[in-house]
Amino acid sequence: MKLKVTEIPQNLKKMVPPGFRLEQRGAHEFLVIESIYCPHGHNLLVESVRIHGKPSVMLKARIGNDEGVIFVDAFWGSHAKLFSFVPTDFTADAIVEASCPVCGASLMERRPCDEEDCDSLDGIVLFLPGNANKVHVCARIGCPGHHIEIIDVPHEYVEMISDINYFGESADEMFGDLL
Ligand SMILES: [Zn+2]
Ligand SMILES: [Zn+2]
Repeated sequence: MKLKVTEIPQNLKKMVPPGFRLEQRGAHEFLVIESIYCPHGHNLLVESVRIHGKPSVMLKARIGNDEGVIFVDAFWGSHAKLFSFVPTDFTADAIVEASCPVCGASLMERRPCDEEDCDSLDGIVLFLPGNANKVHVCARIGCPGHHIEIIDVPHEYVEMISDINYFGESADEMFGDLL
């Protein structure tokens, strides 16, 4: 897979959304999640498991009949994940049912995925600082669908942020060079 770096638009750097910060790695800048919560305010970032050198987002997860925790890369647009278990149903279409590892609150929502070739209606919602700021992620394991909703940032910026994507192996190559 060819390395594809999505440069963060210059004007976006002045509009870093709540819960994110800019991280310089080599010649590139990335948006990194700094604070993200369950609906009851539990911080889902954990220091103990790091991905690409940063705290990861820990979610309790059920995939089919298997349950455990997953750790998700805090680099926005990267889809790297670590699993504490080996799901039996590990197809790209498998749905991750996510909940808060602290209080068990469901993080699931009904929301059609934004990706053109994905018809999933199952989404995962995570909360950023501020009452109405959220991250929406497609619940299908193999789908890169993700979207942010930020009240105080103009719509065009929010769309730009939502469009940032680093895919699979290319992301690993990219980060591999930088770490
Ligand atoms: Zn919680
Ligand atoms: Zn999707």
